[in-house]
Amino acid sequence: MDQKLKRDHGFIHIPCNELDIFILSDGYFGIGYHQPILAPGIPQNLVKDELRNLYLSESYYEAPINVMLIKKGDRNILVDTGEGFHDEENAGKLVYSLTAAGFTPESVTDILITHAHRDHIGGILSKNGDFVFPNAHYYISSQEFEFWTSDEPDFQKSKNPEGGKPSIPLVRKVLSAINSRLTKFEIGDQLFSCIQTKAAPGHTPGHIIYTVNDGDLSITNVVDLFHSPLLIAKPHWGTQWDIDFATGVETRKKVLENCYQNRTLICSAHLPWPGIGYINKVNDQFQWIPKVYNDPFSINLKIDQKAGTV
Ligand SMILES: [Zn+2]
Repeated sequence: MDQKLKRDHGFIHIPCNELDIFILSDGYFGIGYHQPILAPGIPQNLVKDELRNLYLSESYYEAPINVMLIKKGDRNILVDTGEGFHDEENAGKLVYSLTAAGFTPESVTDILITHAHRDHIGGILSKNGDFVFPNAHYYISSQEFEFWTSDEPDFQKSKNPEGGKPSIPLVRKVLSAINSRLTKFEIGDQLFSCIQTKAAPGHTPGHIIYTVNDGDLSITNVVDLFHSPLLIAKPHWGTQWDIDFATGVETRKKVLENCYQNRTLICSAHLPWPGIGYINKVNDQFQWIPKVYNDPFSINLKIDQKAGTV
């Protein structure tokens, strides 16, 4: 790895023991204001007060799309694929970041799909319908697969039941395209002898979080439980993006408490780049603590302790 490369190439490298973990940027998505996507139905003055408390913008909402890649021997395991060509304005940069980190799309051997929202599966196929990662084998939880391929996926428990439906055709197109190279796993399975999957339902029925274990090191990816530090401070405010709002809130609270109790090192698909840090609790309110690093010229982020797992 060329140590002269800087973080502004859109990736960071977390050296472990047997594994090398990379966080690759797919870019970000931007929405005018947090509501009603986040905190639907909560009085705006309360939301603005909390954004101010957290030093977050009161006028715009942006969130990065952070994609994990795990290198284990000759396997290069990508977890989700970003937006692909579906949002070329701010996102769709995964292949660029992957290449900057020293990989090629052809070198990706496995792709673990955490859930089937567009910002996670959008990069699987090109605009022409070709495989962007031509040699990859795919993995998805059987619960997630069944939800999207069932006769009528049920969005009634969402705060915006109509909002999820337009994504059905794309999800089905992608799942059908990868079907012959797809392994469905049961949530709770360990994959590749280093990725422990765990159920985190609510965002989607088969949404998983996972812990990467490597000897005395571990890092837990909480994927789409938090689209902003706002939902760490106010987990019950929730998001319209959750297909089952109430279950999403319950899962979010449970994982927050667990991460806090165990001082778990976590990373996230949508917390501020690179989305790595810890959960603290002050005056009964959870708080996002980003992991700091001290050499702005290095691409390497050191982790040095076995954190608790969720
Ligand atoms: Zn997402």
